[in-house]
Amino acid sequence: MAIDPVCKMEVDEKTAKFKSVYKGETYYFCAPGCKKAFEEKPEGYIGQE
Ligand SMILES: [Zn+2]
Repeated sequence: MAIDPVCKMEVDEKTAKFKSVYKGETYYFCAPGCKKAFEEKPEGYIGQE
């Protein structure tokens, strides 16, 4: 399972409909709203560097 970086829900990579690639990493989301929020400000959710 992957963790939705926006809401911290578990998301199954095999069935995830919403995903986004950022800096070579694939992130999975539970809903289009989470994907959209992430894409608007990815650094705010992954909090690295
Ligand atoms: Zn979510």
